[in-house]
Amino acid sequence: MKFKDMEIRPDTLAALLEMGYEEPTEVQEKVIPLIIEGRNVVARSKTGTGKTAAFGVGVTERLVGNTARKALILAPTRELTLQVSDEIKKITVKYPLKTVAVYGGYSINPQISSLRKGADILVATPGRLLDHAERGTVDLSEFDIVVLDEADRMLDMGFRDEMDRIMDQISRERTVLLLSATVDEAILGAASRYMGEPHIVEIGEKEKPEEIREEIIEATKLEKFSKLKQLLKNNKNQRAIIFTSTKIFANRLAERLQKNGFDADALQGDMSQAAREKVLRKLHQGRIHILVATDVAARGLHIEDVGLIVNYDQARDDDTHLHRVGRTGRMGSEGMAVTFIERRETREERFREDHPDFAWMNPGYRPPSHRKERKTTGNSRNKRGKSRDKRRKPKR
Ligand code: AMP
Repeated sequence: MKFKDMEIRPDTLAALLEMGYEEPTEVQEKVIPLIIEGRNVVARSKTGTGKTAAFGVGVTERLVGNTARKALILAPTRELTLQVSDEIKKITVKYPLKTVAVYGGYSINPQISSLRKGADILVATPGRLLDHAERGTVDLSEFDIVVLDEADRMLDMGFRDEMDRIMDQISRERTVLLLSATVDEAILGAASRYMGEPHIVEIGEKEKPEEIREEIIEATKLEKFSKLKQLLKNNKNQRAIIFTSTKIFANRLAERLQKNGFDADALQGDMSQAAREKVLRKLHQGRIHILVATDVAARGLHIEDVGLIVNYDQARDDDTHLHRVGRTGRMGSEGMAVTFIERRETREERFREDHPDFAWMNPGYRPPSHRKERKTTGNSRNKRGKSRDKRRKPKR
């Protein structure tokens, strides 16, 4: 099937061809007609399978066909908001539709001026959107299509209050579209507060694309860094994203990699928004190859040719793992994801770490920790309350 065989306007088709999209992906083929029909849709499809253009084309067709006035697209991170609005601008290039992105981290004033000129498609993070709604710079009742990109994240507890406040103000005659690689019953339950019966589209299993090969490396805390260096050296021509669990550690690891000659930079939520975008630009332009990031980069971001994902710290749950590894293996390209599992150090390894200069060649040496271990066992009491040392005393 080609896009030209679908019921979409010639100008939309022309824009898609300019983007290099000739054939719809499976999720696009299924979801676009449903959006055009005005249905509520919940779509689950693997990471990197073209969900943005699926709702982008559907929404464009409805706005151009005047079956909806304005569309609101909500995304969980600022970077994703920017990426989605860029793609929507390309899809709508042949029409006089205005797409505006609003998100935190920057002064609100330029966004207010853009909004004054009118926004047919507004792409936003929830917090900044509410800020605009409260100032009266956005009238949410004018929006009758709402898209939740990375829907499960938008409906989890972290965004719940903001989502309730937004949805309370949206037009009653609304169409709601939910898309993610991870949608389950709980999400459908949460979504039922905002929408009538949805049409559910599920493509494939809830799993990572087949193109992603996964490996596990067991290592102690001490060994991890040298194993990471080796891994990066073995994949040195590829872009890599390394995930850590904390913002501070993302910075530290990026610095440590830089000191070891790797072109790495950190991306985490405590950086200014301008710095966050600068790092992503550097990665897109190939000025750096390694991104050390927190989960702010786990959702939705599309970076060409990421060949390696490293979970330096394991993800907090399976879904986050799936989204992280989904930054590679996009649209059929190959990728590898490596997860470090931390193995606890043995006492001997800990001793070696604390005493790097110790003469290990000394035969018969037992580290003090071993002696301590023996002593503890030796002093433990047996059932009858006698110490084992006493029981073991040789008879004279
Ligand atoms: P997404 O899952 O929306 O982030 O899209 C993943 C990648 O696939 C992006 O680089 C899109 O530009 C690209 N893409 C989306 N739809 C198509 C299509 N029909 N044909 C070719 N590439 C596409």
